[in-house]
Amino acid sequence: MSDILINVDHVSFAYEEESREAVRDVCLQVPKGAFHAILGQNGSGKSTLAKLMNGLYLPTKGSVHVCGMDTQDEKNTWEIRRRAGMVFQNPDNQLVATVVEEDVAFGLENIGVPTEEMPDRIRKALSDVGMLPFANRAPHTLSGGQKQRVAIAGVLAMQPEAIIFDESTAMLDPRGRKEVMEAVKQLNQEQGITVLWITHFMEEAVHCDRVHIMHDGQIVLSGTPRDVFADPDRIRAYRLDAPPMARLAQGLRAAGMPIREGVLTVDEMAEEVRRLCK
Ligand code: ADP
Ligand code: MG
Repeated sequence: MSDILINVDHVSFAYEEESREAVRDVCLQVPKGAFHAILGQNGSGKSTLAKLMNGLYLPTKGSVHVCGMDTQDEKNTWEIRRRAGMVFQNPDNQLVATVVEEDVAFGLENIGVPTEEMPDRIRKALSDVGMLPFANRAPHTLSGGQKQRVAIAGVLAMQPEAIIFDESTAMLDPRGRKEVMEAVKQLNQEQGITVLWITHFMEEAVHCDRVHIMHDGQIVLSGTPRDVFADPDRIRAYRLDAPPMARLAQGLRAAGMPIREGVLTVDEMAEEVRRLCK
C-alpha cells in the first residue's frame, strides 16, 4: 500500500441540526512520518475534521482512510482509534486516574493488552515524554504541560502510528506549550510518529513539514511554512496572522532593511540581523 497514513478524500460533514456543512469538500493526505499542521480561526472546522479522522464522526460525503482502513466500516473503528490517537485541549478532561501510571494503564486495559505487558509499555511511554520520574504522582499536582505530556503517554502506550493534537497547547502557559511541543517534535523525529498538529498559534506551525489553512469548513491553502507565510497579507484574508518573525521581517523590509524572504524563526532573524550588521 501507499505511504499515506491519513487520507481524507473530498469529505463533507454536517451536524444533524445544522443545514450548513462544518467541513466542505476537504482533501488532505498525511504521509507516514510527516508533521503537518492545520491552522484556522475559531469555528473554521478544525475539530470537526480531526474527529472525522479517527472515526468519531463519519463523513456525510467522501471518505476517510486511516492506515488504509475506511472509517465508515464499523469493524475498523477501534483499530483506527488505536493507530491514530488523539490528544485534546484540556488535560483535566483526559486524565481519569488518581496516579499518573494508572492513567497511562487505563487505555491499555480498554484495548485488552495483557497485564504482564503493561509495566514495560507504561514505563516506555512515560519515559518518551520525560514523565517517568512522575509515575507515582497524582495528576492534579502536575503543571498543565506535565499533565498534557501524561495524556500523550496514555496515547503512546497504545503504540499508535499517528497522533492528532487538537489545540493541545491552547490552555498552557508559554513554558508548558514549549515543553509539549518539544516532546512531540522528538516523537516525530526519533520514533517516526506521524503528527497532525492543530493549532491557532502561528509560531508553532513554522517547524512543520506542511501547513494547511482552514477557513469556513474548507482547506484554502496548503504548503510548506515558508510558502504559506511568505506573504503575511495573504493569510490575513483568513483572519490569521503570520508568525511573529515573518511579520517583523515584513516590517523591517518596509522600512528599507534588506531582510531576505522566508525568515520564519527567531534563529533565522538573528542570523539576518548579524549578517546586516557586518
Ligand atoms: P474549530 O475547531 O476550528 O473551532 P469546529 O470544528 O469546532 O471548529 O466547528 C466548526 C463549525 O461547526 C462551527 O460553525 C461550529 O459552530 C459547528 N459545530 C461544532 N460542533 C458542533 C456540534 N456539536 N453541533 C452543531 N454544530 C457544531
Ligand atoms: Mg476546535
